[in-house]
Amino acid sequence: AETPATRDTAIFDLIRQEAERQRSGLELIASENFTSAAVREAQGSVLTNKYAEGYPGKRWYGGCEVVDQVETLAIERVKALFGAEWANVQPHSGSSANLAVYNALIEPGDTVLGMDLSHGGHLTHGNPVNFSGLRYKIVGYQVNPETERIDMEVVRRLAHEHRPKMIIAGASAYSRTIDFAAFREVADEVGAILFADIAHIAGLIAAGEHPNALPHAHVVASTTHKTLRGPRGGIILSNDPELGARIDRAVFPGYQGGPLEHVIAAKAVAFGEALRPEFKTYARQIIRNAQALAQAFQDKGYRVVSGGTDNHLLVLDLRPQGLNGTKATKRLDANHITISKSTLPYDTEKILHGGGIRLGTPALTTRGMTEEHMTVIADLIDRALKGEDVKAEVHAFAVRFPLP
Ligand code: PLP
Repeated sequence: AETPATRDTAIFDLIRQEAERQRSGLELIASENFTSAAVREAQGSVLTNKYAEGYPGKRWYGGCEVVDQVETLAIERVKALFGAEWANVQPHSGSSANLAVYNALIEPGDTVLGMDLSHGGHLTHGNPVNFSGLRYKIVGYQVNPETERIDMEVVRRLAHEHRPKMIIAGASAYSRTIDFAAFREVADEVGAILFADIAHIAGLIAAGEHPNALPHAHVVASTTHKTLRGPRGGIILSNDPELGARIDRAVFPGYQGGPLEHVIAAKAVAFGEALRPEFKTYARQIIRNAQALAQAFQDKGYRVVSGGTDNHLLVLDLRPQGLNGTKATKRLDANHITISKSTLPYDTEKILHGGGIRLGTPALTTRGMTEEHMTVIADLIDRALKGEDVKAEVHAFAVRFPLP
C-alpha cells in the first residue's frame, strides 16, 4: 500500500537520513534540542490546514472555534509558566518576535542599547545587516575584559551617555546569570524600555533555574525551541496589558498574516511539558552537565570564557590550541560532533571564523546524559580537535542514548 514515504521518496529518504544523523551523532549546538513525540505530532497535525488571521474570538475567518481553544490554551499555559499577565504565541520565530517588539515600542532612528554581538548578543540586537542595525541607532555594551561578564557599571555609563529608548538584556553566547533587576534599575534611571530576550535561557527560567526576567522587564520575547524544548517559534510576554495590546497589533496585522495554529498547538504541548515537575529536574541537569563539561575542558588545559558557566552553555577559546571556530567546526563535524563556532569577547580572530566554539548541553541532557558522560564527550572533542578520528567511538557512544 502507498504510504507518505513511498509517495515522496526524495523527501522522506532525507528525513530518514536526518533522523539517523541525529541519533548517531552528538548534538552540542546550544540552541538545539530534541522535541517530544507529542510536540511533533501536534505540529504535524491537521491544524496546519486552518487559516485564523486575528486572535481567539476575533478572527477574520470562519471555522475557528477549535483553533481558538488551542491558541487560548497555549496563551494560558505560557502565562502560568512565566508568571505573565499577557502573552502572544503567534510569532513564527524568535527574530520575528523581536521585530514585533521593536515595531510596537520604538520608532526608526531611535537609540537601542544591546549586547555587542561579538560579546554574545544576537543578530536582532543590532547587527548592521539585520533590520535592527539598519533601522535603529545601536549602541553595544561589552563584557568586562577581566571577568568576561556583563559589567552593570558599563551598561549604566552607556545608558546615561546615549539615553536609549530601549535596552536589551539577553544573549546567544553568554554563559553567566543575567541580572534583570539591575538592568531595570538602569532602564528606569534613563526612562528606557527594558526588553529581555530570553531565547536561550527560557527553559531554565521556566524551571526556576535562572532568575525570571518578567517581574523586571517591560517586555520579554523568546524562542520556543531551545532550552524550552518546543517547536521552532517565538513568543512575547508582558505584565503590562497596554503594551501587550500594542504588540498584538504589531504582530497581526503589523507584519504577519495567518498564525501557524499547528505550531501553536505544539507550543502548547511543550508549555504543558515544561509545567511538569520532571522539567525542573531536566533543567537542573542541563546546568550540571554544562558545568561538568566546562570543568572537564579546564582539566585538559582549555580556556573557558569567563572561567565557567551558570547556564546551559560554555564558550571555549581555541586560539591557544592554534585553532579557530571554522577549523574546529570542520574537525568536529567530520566526527559527527555538532557544535557552533563563536566569536570571543575582544576576539583577535577574524569575525568570519571566530576564535572559539560554543557548546551547549540541552540536547544531550534530553537524551538522558549526566555528568559522567560529559567527561567522555570532552575527551572525544579534545581528541577530534587534535586531528584524531573518533567517529566510530562517537557513534557507539551516542546510540546508547535513545531520542524521544
Ligand atoms: N534571540 C536570541 C537571543 C537568539 O539566540 C535567537 C536565536 O538564535 C533569536 C533571538 C532568534 O530566533 P530565530 O532563530 O527563531 O529567529
